[in-house]
Amino acid sequence: MSSLAIPEIKALFLPFPAHSHMLPALDIAKLFALHGVKCTIVTTPVNAPIFTKAIQKTQHLGLEITLKIIKFPTVEAGLPQDCENSEQVTSAEMTWKFFKAIAMLQEPFEKILRDVQPQCIVADSFFPWASHVASKFGIPRLSFSGTGFFSLCSSESLRLYKPHAKVSSDSETFEIPGLPDTVKLTRKQIPDPTSDDEFNSFYELEPTYANHFMNVLKRRAWHIGPVSVCNREREEKAQRGKEAAIAEHECLTWLDSKDPNSVVYVCFGSMALFDASQLREIAVALEASGKQFIWVVRKNKDGNENEDWLPSGFEERMKDRGLIIRGWAPQMLILDHKAIGAFVTHCGWNSTLEGISSGLPLVTWPLFAEQFMNEKLVTQVLKIRVSVGVQQFARFGGETVKSERIEEAICKIMEGEEAENIRSKAKEFGDLAKKVVERGGSFYRDLKALIEGLRCYQP
Ligand code: UDP
Repeated sequence: MSSLAIPEIKALFLPFPAHSHMLPALDIAKLFALHGVKCTIVTTPVNAPIFTKAIQKTQHLGLEITLKIIKFPTVEAGLPQDCENSEQVTSAEMTWKFFKAIAMLQEPFEKILRDVQPQCIVADSFFPWASHVASKFGIPRLSFSGTGFFSLCSSESLRLYKPHAKVSSDSETFEIPGLPDTVKLTRKQIPDPTSDDEFNSFYELEPTYANHFMNVLKRRAWHIGPVSVCNREREEKAQRGKEAAIAEHECLTWLDSKDPNSVVYVCFGSMALFDASQLREIAVALEASGKQFIWVVRKNKDGNENEDWLPSGFEERMKDRGLIIRGWAPQMLILDHKAIGAFVTHCGWNSTLEGISSGLPLVTWPLFAEQFMNEKLVTQVLKIRVSVGVQQFARFGGETVKSERIEEAICKIMEGEEAENIRSKAKEFGDLAKKVVERGGSFYRDLKALIEGLRCYQP
């Protein structure tokens, strides 16, 4: 990609401090910078390393991305001192305090805004006050939604029509009114409704819902995803986010030794917390499935240093067919490898989109946020998944999914006629994702239109 000569625009980015929001925000900043926009990203000390290395790497391309650090008011909000990223939030009470700290960022953010004097703010939808700040300074605010059209249309319908208030129990299903498809949920599966207008999605993935959002809900939106595509170099993919808990060459050598489509990749994003009994069920399922796997294990709620979640002798028995990554995995590198045959995912939007863009069939295991809606998109609209059948929202611990259900889903996605059908459909979406990011594709069209719109903006 080469930078296009356009009059100078400065954009001030304010990503929400969670990996799933900071990574796409950084990707968008890179994409903006490639189109001549000078970008400044505002973040906090603990989160700064996510950006610094990646920004350094863009400098040889002549891209102008700078970082401004503001203090995160942890102590003032009643949080532990270093709790600046939502992956460190481990209870409902901490969540509340975390958002209290988020609200306190307005003042230091305004100070930076006065210094930088940008022509627009690109703030995460989790900063509702950013719209007020933008109008105070007479500049546009782009609200970055970390999700896709389907879940936003669903959330908006829930907000407007409240179908969940009309059922008599948490497990009774209700239909989401006014959507192009019949989509059913239960109260146990819904998050808080939100609203936004800049998307990490692409038109061709969810055209009906992109149209619904713009034509029926009358909201302006630019579909500029999948933004992760700006990480084209192997090194960029390997180093995206935190430092990986496995060396790049070790990971690739292991994958290179496997047949195409033969490995199941199991990862639940940057925030999911599983207790020891759930981890054990996954281990039992992976062993029983007979499939090769990469399994990414985050620290569990009680700390998993003593590894009592692993069945005795598991790693010795699995040494030729399984790889456990304890900590951060180079997910984009892994998903793009031809050996990967399916992705067991919690349906976080980034993971969902990355899996779809890599043309992979998914095993869906939603946990919290809008993940149940993302599952519905993958299940009912795109039809490229097998579900483990989770019924209940579980940010901080929930139902334990038994090994038999996990094993069954893994086997179903990897072998048999249904698996073949899903695989060929998933591949079509992967090909589509590659096409939209080519020059002339809808991704470029919308990105250019967005930047052009900013350039011509008159308050
Ligand atoms: N990710 C990664 N390595 C990991 C865990 C996560 O690279 O070990 C990345 C993943 O590629 C995705 C993001 O972190 O871009 C997770 O975002 P998602 O929306 O899927 O889930 P969340 O973290 O919000 O639950």
